[in-house]
Amino acid sequence: MIKFLPLGGAGDIGASCFYLNLGDSGIILDCGMHPQKTGYNALPKLDLIKNLPVDNILISHAHQDHIGALPYLVQQHPYIKIISTPQTRALAELTLHNSVSILSEQLNGEDKLKTYTHEEIDLLIRTIDYKAYGESFVIGNSFHQSWNPVKAVFYDAGHILGSAGILLEYMGKKIFYTGDINLEDQILIPGAGLPPGPVDILILETTYGATDSSTILSWREEAVRLAASINKIINTGGSILIPVFSLGKMQEILATIWNLMLDGKITTVDIYTGGIAEKISRVYDYNRYTVNRVDPEFEIKSIPQKDLYEVDRIESFFKNPCIVLAPSGMMIEGTASYNLARHWLKQSKSAIFTVGYMEENTPGFIYANAAKGDKIKLPGTETFEEVKCTIEQFRFSAHSRREELLGIVKKLRPEIVCLIHGDLPAIDWIGASILKNFKGIKVHQAEIGKEIYL
Ligand SMILES: [Zn+2]
Repeated sequence: MIKFLPLGGAGDIGASCFYLNLGDSGIILDCGMHPQKTGYNALPKLDLIKNLPVDNILISHAHQDHIGALPYLVQQHPYIKIISTPQTRALAELTLHNSVSILSEQLNGEDKLKTYTHEEIDLLIRTIDYKAYGESFVIGNSFHQSWNPVKAVFYDAGHILGSAGILLEYMGKKIFYTGDINLEDQILIPGAGLPPGPVDILILETTYGATDSSTILSWREEAVRLAASINKIINTGGSILIPVFSLGKMQEILATIWNLMLDGKITTVDIYTGGIAEKISRVYDYNRYTVNRVDPEFEIKSIPQKDLYEVDRIESFFKNPCIVLAPSGMMIEGTASYNLARHWLKQSKSAIFTVGYMEENTPGFIYANAAKGDKIKLPGTETFEEVKCTIEQFRFSAHSRREELLGIVKKLRPEIVCLIHGDLPAIDWIGASILKNFKGIKVHQAEIGKEIYL
């Protein structure tokens, strides 16, 4: 019997966490933290597996919404075995340490959760076992008498460094979990590889299910559009703020902009980056020969960068044209991009360019959908502010387009598809398209706490 129980990341892009009960073995796929929520509410519903077997957790990649709640899972299940790719392990070490201080601020007065320490993270990282792409390994509850082994393999998911789709095989049934998957090349990370089909059960992300694919150009086409807009601002003496995730988007956009400068497509100006992104870039560089890369010779450290956190006067950013890549990607309150944007708004010559997916109700979503002359109100503030700067939206996607997601279904020919990691319109579009185009495939819309027997 196979039981699938979503604990988070179902019905929205939140705290991805999925439980699979395979006979006597309990396998968890990812354990993320909801990026827009705080404290206990940001965690997956780990209470739902209190009385169920829990043996392993496999981590698809090191983004917070897939790994951020891992320390809490380990608090509740100290003997759980954690497995990821070596690159995800290296990145997790950085991102989990980084969230220790953020969490302890957030959890002030919150009694349901206890914060964890850097020492605990060190211990946790040491216990993460790692397997390379394509390496087959056995997991599950091997102590049980009637044990049936679960075989697992990681496939390169093309999303960020170390990201993996996870293939499980149990009693002849194959289950493939896409994690966050991107089939097309970015500048640094090439597109995903898929397991040979068919599989029986496909657990499919649907981030761009509701997005018209004609609005998502290829990375290179979008770079041409970005170059034209950057030149327009720089040539009139303005500076550009680009909110990015520190992990993945920062490295890809930085390399994109630098390539444009090297090719003479945009004027060379100062580029500001900083914070944890610099350490993450080092892990990207270090692993450039160990995993597939578009150009293994290219090193991010060869790009001249200034540290945005060392600038003490905000006016310095506007003295000469510059480009600032600042976390967080969705401009969450309190982050560098959120704080800088408040100043950028007032600068008529300057611009804010958004480059990635924005979840509704985030400050990033409000900015991305505003235009010069609009009045905007950010969550948690009372006043409307006039947008004096230019705002432009770009889409450099680290997720597959919706037709590509259907292409995965076509290639893997599953009997059952469970739709996850998307909002309801996204899940509806993918679900309806699968039912229309592929006869006989059963579609489940994952819901938190709703068991599905497969
Ligand atoms: Zn991700």
